[in-house]
Amino acid sequence: MKKKRLKLKKKVWYILVAIIFIPIFIISFFKVKNNYEYKKTYEYRFINAGYSKEEYQVLAKYFDDDYLETLLKNDKDEDLIKLVSNKHFILENLDRYQKLYNHYHNIDIDEIVLNINLNLDYDYYEVIEDTDISKNNLMLVNKYNKLPDDYEPEDLVTIGVKYCWGEGKKIRKEVYESFMKMWEAAYDDGIYLVINLAYRSYADQEAIYNRLMNQKNRKYADSIAARPGHSEHQTGLAIDIFDRNNTDFENSDANSWLQENAYKYGFIQRYTEDNVAITGFNTENYHYRYVGKEDAKKIFDQKITFDEYYHYNVK
Ligand code: ZN
Repeated sequence: MKKKRLKLKKKVWYILVAIIFIPIFIISFFKVKNNYEYKKTYEYRFINAGYSKEEYQVLAKYFDDDYLETLLKNDKDEDLIKLVSNKHFILENLDRYQKLYNHYHNIDIDEIVLNINLNLDYDYYEVIEDTDISKNNLMLVNKYNKLPDDYEPEDLVTIGVKYCWGEGKKIRKEVYESFMKMWEAAYDDGIYLVINLAYRSYADQEAIYNRLMNQKNRKYADSIAARPGHSEHQTGLAIDIFDRNNTDFENSDANSWLQENAYKYGFIQRYTEDNVAITGFNTENYHYRYVGKEDAKKIFDQKITFDEYYHYNVK
């Protein structure tokens, strides 16, 4: 009897031990297994190679296993990390970023990425994409983006002589309506705005460009006029605005008034001195481009070119 009780006690004891230790054993087993498997992951290997977890994650977002293996064979690539961490990084541009970066190591990464994204490593007119006219008020026309030869806005209206030098000049309806509001506001401040150039057709731009080219050469023509299809005036969204009372526009009240107020009516100054390096166009403080109020305010506040704005917010 006593022996039996003892035996029973022993059994209970074993069960108790099993209840406690088997789960511990199982948990430990999986921990070890997970740990072993984690050590085989890229995350572990990259952290082991001196990268942070965040740096690894951004690399993994862009690169395949082969590329990751190659990276692990070399020292930590700080420059690559800087590039891929840039919020405007585009994978297909990687070679071009690296080429430019190796060439100009002292330029900051933001500028490298910007320059390449805008194709500025190519000569003007060297690579040409078709302008996406479906972007309407936000379409991009520059030395890398070209309008179709036959593009003509459907809603061109004739500008009244009150607002314009010369007769029969045309502009898109929405642009005209906004301009008239702006004209009134300027007038209330004692400023007399006047449009000199508005819509210009492909054929007219071509005639101007060819005349310049025949006078001297292509280089000369390029220094003065946009090539046909590359002028914003063909969009019907661009106007050259002057001061009716002052032929010296640079020093006119209209110039300073427009710089402060044009964005409120949806217009941005497109070719300023600060923008030359990006736009590739000479300073033309009188050239205003209509983009609509909302976007004009953002561009004005951010103090960036329309080319940059387009690449980061519209494209
Ligand atoms: Zn212009």
